[in-house]
Amino acid sequence: MTTIYKPLATKPDADVSDAGFLSDVAQGALRLTPEQGLELLQQAELFELGRWADARCRNIHGNDLRTYVIDRNINYTNICTAKCIFCAFKRTAEDHDAYTLEYEQLYEKIEELSAVGGTQVLMQGGMNPELPLDWYIDLLHGIKERYPHIHVHGFSPPEFIEFVHFFNPPGKNLEEKLRWVMIRLRDAGLDSLPGGGGEIFSNPVRTKIGLGKCDADAWLTTMYVAHSLGMYTSATMMFGHIEGYADRIYHMELVRQWQDRALMEFGGGSPFTRHHEGDMLPPDHQPPGGHYKAFISWPFQRDNTALGRVKEWGSQPEDREEGAVFPGDAVAVLTGDSDPKAHKEFGRRIRLSGSTDYLRTQAASRLYLDNIYSIGASWVTMGPHVGQVGLQFGANDMGSVMMEENVVSSAGTTYCLDEAVLCKLIRDAGFTPAQRNNTYDVLSIKLGEDSPDKLVTDWSNHRAKRLHVESVPADGKAELTVSAIQAKGE
Ligand code: SF4
Repeated sequence: MTTIYKPLATKPDADVSDAGFLSDVAQGALRLTPEQGLELLQQAELFELGRWADARCRNIHGNDLRTYVIDRNINYTNICTAKCIFCAFKRTAEDHDAYTLEYEQLYEKIEELSAVGGTQVLMQGGMNPELPLDWYIDLLHGIKERYPHIHVHGFSPPEFIEFVHFFNPPGKNLEEKLRWVMIRLRDAGLDSLPGGGGEIFSNPVRTKIGLGKCDADAWLTTMYVAHSLGMYTSATMMFGHIEGYADRIYHMELVRQWQDRALMEFGGGSPFTRHHEGDMLPPDHQPPGGHYKAFISWPFQRDNTALGRVKEWGSQPEDREEGAVFPGDAVAVLTGDSDPKAHKEFGRRIRLSGSTDYLRTQAASRLYLDNIYSIGASWVTMGPHVGQVGLQFGANDMGSVMMEENVVSSAGTTYCLDEAVLCKLIRDAGFTPAQRNNTYDVLSIKLGEDSPDKLVTDWSNHRAKRLHVESVPADGKAELTVSAIQAKGE
């Protein structure tokens, strides 16, 4: 019989220290309220929280396989109209190291990806007003003609919102305009949307750190439109800066609510259906329509950013006075309508996140987001071994064997792993590594002696490597490699 998705019930009077209640949450029988989520995030004992998140993960994903994907993150331009103060990647068109990749450069990168068995390209850029809609359409056609087997996961909601501003598409409201643009990009070859630019949804935080970037409602509406077109997307959160703990839960709450809406409106069954590619699915199986497939959260990286230069919480004498409360916590409320004036130092202190805070947040997200299939471990920012521990704290996926990344690495991240190391990390954590595709279906299980990690005889050649960063000659101004006029062929 076909299953119809229904959100789980809550039990608001339940105590989060009650093992019976948490067992129901871990079994997918009950849903946490925002208050319960906040209490768990802030007060639960770290390993208890991890144990429940792990139980929830095992309930959905079983005890055996933990996945990874081989993809390439291509940042096609670093020219951007926004001024996010946490960003070390963006440039203006006048900067000497501004770039926009030529089509041939993009194809070359995808060729390299395809040659190593990659299945997906993640394309994100700055929001570059010089690039017309035809530039994107021609690029997508070009990719699909050359590499029909490569899944194109591209253009996060802030880019789509700027597409609406740049291209002025027809439509009575934002949703219609977004749909007009998205249909054209989808028809040209866009397969799914990444969750970049999620940051923190709470308005006071977002307006302080993401100058010129879309608000939460526009971000969520973009994903809703993608879901209405049957596309899968992911959601993200960047924490560990000026936000309060309640802001993190409010962020997860919005993702959960909009996921409920997508699953109910666009039909289908459980978001947890998984199959191995090629399996025969039961005749009554109805895959869910467009929805969020994954949630990935990571702590803010401070190097080379304006936000990174904000004073750390605890560094000033008044921060250490009795009863002092971190300004972000004084401002944040679970309903999202926070008052930025509730603390005069709001936005003037950052509370950076270390490995334990990261693991707590990831574990809380696994328990709170009861309708999201995949929780990704963020080893790119936290390092391979914290990412590995993340597999015991609710994560089922180690993300990508990343050949390239430019945005987070500009802010100080240096980790890049090859497939053998990723497989070893997963295996050493007690699981069997499995390569997946973008829809989280398993492509191959790495069990045999020919598995990438089993073939390695000298691990000294397989250390974490510095990520590739796009660069231009230091001895002069880089030229834009494409302009609106060139791209239009005028
Ligand atoms: S984070 Fe993205 S949108 Fe913000 S300035 Fe950087 S490139 Fe632009």
